[in-house]
Amino acid sequence: MKFDYLIVGAGLFGSMFAYHAKKAGKKCLVIDKRPYVGGNLYCENIEGINVHKYGAHIFHTSNKKVWDFVNSLVEFNRYTNSPLAYYKGSYYNLPFNMNTFYAIWGVGRPNDVKKIIEKQRAEITTEYPKNLEEKAISQVGREIYELLIKGYSEKQWGRKCTDIPAFIINRIPLRYTFDNNYFNDKYQGIPVGGYNVMIDKLLNGIEKQCNIDFFSNRHELEKSAKKIVFTGKIDEYFNYRFGRLDYRSLKFEHEIVNCENYQGNAVVNYTDKEVPYTRIIEHKHFEFGIQPKTVITREYSLAMNDELDPYYPINDEHNNNIFGKYQELANQIPNVIFGGRLAEYKYYDMHQIIEKFIK
Ligand code: FAD
Repeated sequence: MKFDYLIVGAGLFGSMFAYHAKKAGKKCLVIDKRPYVGGNLYCENIEGINVHKYGAHIFHTSNKKVWDFVNSLVEFNRYTNSPLAYYKGSYYNLPFNMNTFYAIWGVGRPNDVKKIIEKQRAEITTEYPKNLEEKAISQVGREIYELLIKGYSEKQWGRKCTDIPAFIINRIPLRYTFDNNYFNDKYQGIPVGGYNVMIDKLLNGIEKQCNIDFFSNRHELEKSAKKIVFTGKIDEYFNYRFGRLDYRSLKFEHEIVNCENYQGNAVVNYTDKEVPYTRIIEHKHFEFGIQPKTVITREYSLAMNDELDPYYPINDEHNNNIFGKYQELANQIPNVIFGGRLAEYKYYDMHQIIEKFIK
């Protein structure tokens, strides 16, 4: 056998695995069905701007070891995620904080805001909200829900909030300071030069082949290595024998705009139902770009079909049961390691993938 590991998928999981295997003296082949490496972190350079082709990616972590590791690969800039929400002609800061509350109610003291929210929350009396609407109102009150949560969630899930199960949302953070920093983590930023620099560092000196779908030549590929690291869809690996796992998908509409600055911020969420997309990303702001043109991406949330990529797993009881069956099969194949968001049917942020390899 030519390789110690055949790594299927050159996303963050596959690349981190390859990096550490190479350090341990192992010979790896990394394949990907896309024409480039990087998985969903891949950036395409358009007009001198690193365009996040598969959705905006902001690195954030509180784990110093993870932060030191990624900074050993590539320098990170000081980008701080401070998204805006746009609702019927008005802008609001996210996450929900004193700037947001001031824009809605013209009230600038935290205790006054708390009183308003407490009063509105009292509308929901049950301890066990039946759906997303009840759960959101029970946490933030009706006004914030109607302005900033309802339409966005309905677009995201393709259903009315009253038909979306309550478990979909956790605790909605309410911040009683004038602080628009979206993340609570200690560290955040964007790699200088984009994520491709980071992935290239991870895969430096490792054999890679793009435009190769594992399933188009499975038997030959399986013979090429002692072990396989599989980061594709676990249901596809087992030929969908227990059925397909559900995902929400996304559509990205990229546009070059002939102006220097389109929206003045990297991320603007559109929270009303009438605008069909969920957000517009203006990529140059991730790296403080001063190029003469700009590139924006309208992001639409869609139901999954065979033509679309899987993005967000739907971890409800039905799908988790199916996944459990695939996992049992996977546990019986010692020479295949299943890892990453598609093989583990789990949403992972980037730092969580890296944490798996950094002890
Ligand atoms: P992927 O990146 O999906 O890599 C899997 C690779 O396997 C792909 O390249 C695919 O082409 C390849 N592959 C699949 N099947 C086959 C096959 N049969 N043959 C060959 N190759 C195959 N995380 C953050 O920390 N911050 C963010 O701001 C953030 N934003 C996100 C926004 C969106 C829209 C999404 C969807 C995710 C976001 N994430 C973010 C999460 C981040 O993308 C993941 O943590 C990361 O992509 C996981 O890497 P992975 O290797 O598991 O999966």
